[in-house]
Amino acid sequence: MADGRTPMHTASVDMTTTSCPACHGERTTPFHSIAATPVTCTSIFDSVAEARAVPMGRVELAVCESCGFVFNRSFDAARAELGARYESSQAASAHFGQFARGLAAQWIERHRLQGKSVLEIGCGHGDFLHLMLGQGVAQVIGVDPLATEAPGQADPRLHIHAAAFDDDLLDLRADALVCRHTLEHIGPVHGFLGRVGQWAARDPQRVVLFELPDAHRVLAEGAFWDVYYEHCSYFTTDTLRSAFERAGLEVLRQELAYGGQYLLIEARAARAAPVDAAAQSAPRVRGLVELCHRFGGEVQRAVSCCDESLVRMAAMGRPIAVWQGAAKTVGFLAALKQADLVHCAVDLSEQRHGRFLPGTGLAVHAPEQLKAIRPGHVILMNPVYVDEVRARLVDMGVDTELCTIADLCG
Ligand SMILES: [Zn+2]
Repeated sequence: MADGRTPMHTASVDMTTTSCPACHGERTTPFHSIAATPVTCTSIFDSVAEARAVPMGRVELAVCESCGFVFNRSFDAARAELGARYESSQAASAHFGQFARGLAAQWIERHRLQGKSVLEIGCGHGDFLHLMLGQGVAQVIGVDPLATEAPGQADPRLHIHAAAFDDDLLDLRADALVCRHTLEHIGPVHGFLGRVGQWAARDPQRVVLFELPDAHRVLAEGAFWDVYYEHCSYFTTDTLRSAFERAGLEVLRQELAYGGQYLLIEARAARAAPVDAAAQSAPRVRGLVELCHRFGGEVQRAVSCCDESLVRMAAMGRPIAVWQGAAKTVGFLAALKQADLVHCAVDLSEQRHGRFLPGTGLAVHAPEQLKAIRPGHVILMNPVYVDEVRARLVDMGVDTELCTIADLCG
C-alpha cells in the first residue's frame, strides 16, 4: 500500500515516547506496530487524489508495565492535528443520535443538572451541548481547539472557547465537566487529567463525566482494525480508574455502554487521600500486560493470514470487495501489506457512496453496485451482520463468497 507514496507521506521523524504518559513509569514495552496508517481513519474524501494525499503516521502500541496503560509511543500530535482538521471538515458527527440523547438524559437526571451549567471539553460543533440544553441544562460552555459552532445554532446560553483545556481555562465555572470521545486523542493524559482533577477540586459538588472507547475489547478480540492513528491513548476500565485516581478524582460509577464498545466513567474530586492504587491493581496490570503481548503475537499471525488470503482470492481473477466503507476498513487495510488487492468497499450509508477512503483511496459504492462488479469475495468487517448481508447478496443475485475476517484467518 505504501508503494508509490512520496516521502512526505511517511513519518520520518522519530517521535518515540518511552515513558508512560499516564503514570510516568519508565518500563513500557511495544507490542504492535503499523508502519504507515492515515492520520485520519474516520474521514472520507471526494477524490482518490485527496484520499491518497492524507499524511501517514506510524503506530507503535506500547504497554506500561507499572500501570497497564496502552499508548502509541510514535504518536505525533502535530500529525494528528492535521488529521483532526480533515475530520472537522466532515459535516457528519459520529456518536450522535439516539445513544447521545439517552446518555445526556441519564447524566442530567443522575447528577441533577436541570437548571445548572455544563462544561464540555472536546465539544466539536457543540452537538452534545445543544442536546443538554434541550433537556433542561441552563448554561453550557464548550472548549475545543477546533471548535466552530454549526451554522444556525447560535444560542445565547452557549459559549464556545476555541482553545485547548489549559491552565488558563481552570477558572471556567460549571456544575459538570463532560468529555466524550476526546481522551483517546490526547497524548499527555497525566497532565490533562490532572487539570480535570484540579478543576473538580475547586468545588466538591462538581461532577466529571467521560465517555471513550474501551480498549479491553480491542485487545481481547485481537481487533487490529480498531487501532487508528488518531487514537493515541487506549484505556480499559482498570487503567481509566487508576488514571482518574492518580488525578485526584474519586470514581462514582463506571460502566460499559453501546454494546460494550464504550467506557463511561463518572467522578468527583477525591475527598480522602487516595489508596495505593498501584499496589492494589498489580495483578490486574500483569493480566493486561500479558493480554497486550498475546494481542501482538495473534495480530501478527492474523495479518499474515489475511494477506495470504487476499493473494489467494485475487488469483481467482475476480474482484474483492469489503462490506463497510468506514474507519474499520481503513484500519484493517492499513495493517495489511496486500491492501492494493482489494477492489472497492460498499456501504449502506448514502453519504459515503462515490467517495474514497483515506490512505488506499479505496472507492466506496452502494451495495447494489456489486451486481455489476461481480466480486469473487466479499469481506465483511462486522460479523454480526453475516446473515443479513448474505441474504442481501442472494436477493441482489450476487454470486460471491462472503467471508468474515475470522474466515480469512481460519
Ligand atoms: Zn503507566
